[in-house]
Amino acid sequence: LVPRLRPFTSTIFAEMTALANRTGAVNLGQGFPDTDGPAGMLRVAKDAIDGGLNQYPPGPGTPELRQAISEHRARYGTHHDPDTGVLVTVGATEAVAAALLALVEPGDEVVLIEPYYDSYAASVALAGATRRTVGLVEEPGTGRLGLDVAALAAAFGPRTRAVLVNSPHNPTGTVFTRDELAAVARLCVEHDVVAITDEVYEHLVFDDREHVPLATLPGMAERTLTVSGAGKSFNCTGWKIGWACGAPELVGAVRAAKQFLTFVGGAPFQPAVAHALRHELDWVERLRASLQDKRSRLAAGLADAGFAVRPSEGTYFITADVRPLGFTDGEQLCRELPERIGVAGVPVQVFTDHPDEWRHLVRFAFCKRDEVLDEAITRLRRLG
Ligand code: PMP
Ligand code: GLN
Repeated sequence: LVPRLRPFTSTIFAEMTALANRTGAVNLGQGFPDTDGPAGMLRVAKDAIDGGLNQYPPGPGTPELRQAISEHRARYGTHHDPDTGVLVTVGATEAVAAALLALVEPGDEVVLIEPYYDSYAASVALAGATRRTVGLVEEPGTGRLGLDVAALAAAFGPRTRAVLVNSPHNPTGTVFTRDELAAVARLCVEHDVVAITDEVYEHLVFDDREHVPLATLPGMAERTLTVSGAGKSFNCTGWKIGWACGAPELVGAVRAAKQFLTFVGGAPFQPAVAHALRHELDWVERLRASLQDKRSRLAAGLADAGFAVRPSEGTYFITADVRPLGFTDGEQLCRELPERIGVAGVPVQVFTDHPDEWRHLVRFAFCKRDEVLDEAITRLRRLG
């Protein structure tokens, strides 16, 4: 393995899921739902297979799906030509990787907000670029993990080529406010930097918060590549249908890289996701409301078990400080938890370049049936 990929030999999700399976633990580590997506969407995929849609679809995605994605983005007021401004990818992960390969040269710098979703650092390394990380900071009083605008500004320099912005944010559950995003936008315009957004949790925002796409802010339409996907909105993380939208020059560049990574993505899932984007948004609203309740349920359970819980404003993750329980190292705790009490979580420090600053936080996923969450809560209480 080449040196630049050596830090990335295994993912924490695979490790923790394997440990949970081995020990029979309740898996609140890897984020995937334990119920299916809308029945109508599943039916379209099954019909597509029966109807013979089993060979390569068009490279950039089926015209029907690109049209549906374009219409879906129009709800935010952004307009993307389905032919030149939309690209279907193998999950959001491929969209981010292809974007970095297409837009960043070896030696360029890419700004990441820390903690960052694990694939970003690996994809920056694949592109031969260097990452500059900017840590979220705890807001006094609420504990919300917010953007440190001064630190972000300090991370932009002459070699900065791109910034990756994930909101709603995994692993913290922070939903960036319009003001926070405006600060990102100002820096991108000032330094002529491309923004790659990861909006896979765009529908999963709580307590009347609003998801603001960075591309809608002044000066950003032409310099933002917006990435999202179907997995989180429609409980189909295993289908791996994602997309990238943006100005034709940006999307064309990503398409050039994507065609030699995977060429195309799964044919029968594309009509199903097109159906879901057009007809299942009421279903998504019910999912959102139910996840909001699950967030509150797990937050209360974790607090009751003795954790100091940080606010989760969206996604299906919540973070908890392990120090009030007398622990100091979240990673060590996560490696012990399955055996000790039968629950798996994920340490936040593995999503960072500064483990000492994040050692106290553990991420738990709440996209699980209520009885599964309740069982986890009962077990977590045994820690105290
Ligand atoms: N980005 C973020 C922030 C995620 O949480 C996930 C899901 N784990 C992904 C990307 C990956 O999405 P996909 O499965 O569509 O590649
Ligand atoms: N996105 C999910 C998470 O953050 C899982 C992704 C994965 O297994 N790579 O937990």
